Amino acid sequence: MRKFLVTDDSKLARRTLIKSLKEYILEERIFEASNGFEALKLTLKEKPDVVFLDLTMPVMDGYEAIPKIKNINPDIKIVVVSADIQEKAKEKVYALGATLHVQKPIKSDKMKAILEVI
Ligand SMILES: [Mg+2]
Repeated sequence: MRKFLVTDDSKLARRTLIKSLKEYILEERIFEASNGFEALKLTLKEKPDVVFLDLTMPVMDGYEAIPKIKNINPDIKIVVVSADIQEKAKEKVYALGATLHVQKPIKSDKMKAILEVI
């Protein structure tokens, strides 16, 4: 069974995403981080298979975290969850190694579609 790490500095954003995720994934397989640095530490400790990653966060943002997370585990799937859906932002996260770029918020239907492709 795959493990999931949900990273966002907004607790509400994490809650919304986790609520959708829990419709499909057992709760004990879901970990939470509030910035990129915490995500790195949890990637080392819990070895998640999939990381949901916000871009704008304090301490370490998503852009900085992507290559560092991939460096720990090149096979990890990174789903960038952002309000910024400009092509430039998308191109940048894909170039850094993200698997998917999806727009906030992630409700049930969108989560189902994500889980089908990652
Ligand atoms: Mg944020």
